Amino acid sequence: MYNSIIVRFGEVFLKKGNRPRFLKILRRNLRRSIERLADVEGVEVSSFHGRFEVSGPDGGEFTEGDLAQLLKAVCSTFGIVSASPAVRSPLDYDVMEKTAVALAERVLESSEVRHFKVDASRSYKRFDMTSPELNRQLGAAVVKRFGLKGKMSSPDLTIGVEIHEHGAYLYAERTPAPGGLPVGSSGKAVLLLSGGIDSPVAGWMMAKRGCVIRPIHFHSFPYTSKRSLEKVNDLAGTLSQWLGRVRLTHIKLTPVQEYLRDNVSGSLLVLFYRRSMVRLAARLAEEVGALALVSGESLGQVASQTMENVAVIEDATSLPVLRPLIGLDKVETVNRAKEIGTYETSIQPYDDCCSLFLPPRPETRGDLDRILSLEARLEELAALEEEAWSSREEVRFGN
Ligand code: ATP
Ligand code: MG
Repeated sequence: MYNSIIVRFGEVFLKKGNRPRFLKILRRNLRRSIERLADVEGVEVSSFHGRFEVSGPDGGEFTEGDLAQLLKAVCSTFGIVSASPAVRSPLDYDVMEKTAVALAERVLESSEVRHFKVDASRSYKRFDMTSPELNRQLGAAVVKRFGLKGKMSSPDLTIGVEIHEHGAYLYAERTPAPGGLPVGSSGKAVLLLSGGIDSPVAGWMMAKRGCVIRPIHFHSFPYTSKRSLEKVNDLAGTLSQWLGRVRLTHIKLTPVQEYLRDNVSGSLLVLFYRRSMVRLAARLAEEVGALALVSGESLGQVASQTMENVAVIEDATSLPVLRPLIGLDKVETVNRAKEIGTYETSIQPYDDCCSLFLPPRPETRGDLDRILSLEARLEELAALEEEAWSSREEVRFGN
């Protein structure tokens, strides 16, 4: 029955001066999500009155399958707050009444409804009924047909009616979308992407704030397996469902790690690894025009994530290091990972390049002066980082 999807955006709307730019990016991203995630031909995206509308070829009805795919695509687009499958009808009261009854019937088939209301609004003031009149008359028709009770606050079913100059829209459902800002509206950042639970979530969160995310992954092949690399590729692929185009860089850190293993105390190894990673990530940032790094660190979660160690690691770059998970509990991150679809991949077995050659008790209170003076004596480090940089490979996902 549905021939339209009404798409609502939130915060973008508030950015007064920037609004046209944000909306242009949002509309482009919406189109790309549909191309990427929905196998439906001839879909149109138009805008009217603070909304987007997704409609099918020649305004015809969507099949159930197409509608489900389109809703998924729309609701995977940052900047969108919700979407409703809708029936667009001419501005004719009788047609609208039939539609309202049919919508209520459809909802009643699959869920228990006791109370309902009609919530009409008009942008087209010349329509000959006011919103309260529409609420009353359409409501009365539904009551008569199904014997439901009207209720103004939190009813089980709300039939939305919007009157615009070009037609009426009626809907009975709202699918939530992630909100945030459209990807591409807040610059670019390089994400340190491991195979763990946290960093994919961190990348997702910054993308939700409008960043283009450019992930980089460090591996220690042949100490770490090919399977671990595939796992990181899978994570980047899942992220691209939300982020759109993703370019993942793999860097082989092995020569750097072997050198560090032979030249610094085991308890400090992880700090040196991380400083090398941060320098290489910053180099990628420079190459691709990114202005920040993103990591999945959360304060106090593991030895490398104490306040002291975070400071030691961050000192290796002059770029800001964004840590969207810093104040989250693990359960909060896990829940988010489940919602965004990365969790099942993240919990697969994975060889962590950071635990390579590590003793059971790494330093938890790194001292920056000490680290800097030790690092200054590591004469081959720069050349080995250069070698690691030359080993980089790029894998592409999304559109
Ligand atoms: P994650 O679940 O993201 O691996 P974690 O809780 O296991 O995080 P660490 O392993 O200490 O924590 O890693 C902290 C952060 O450092 C990660 O979130 C990630 O941003 C970065 N990082 C760690 N290992 C790698 C790696 N091999 N390649 C790229 N970034 C990494
Ligand atoms: Mg990890």
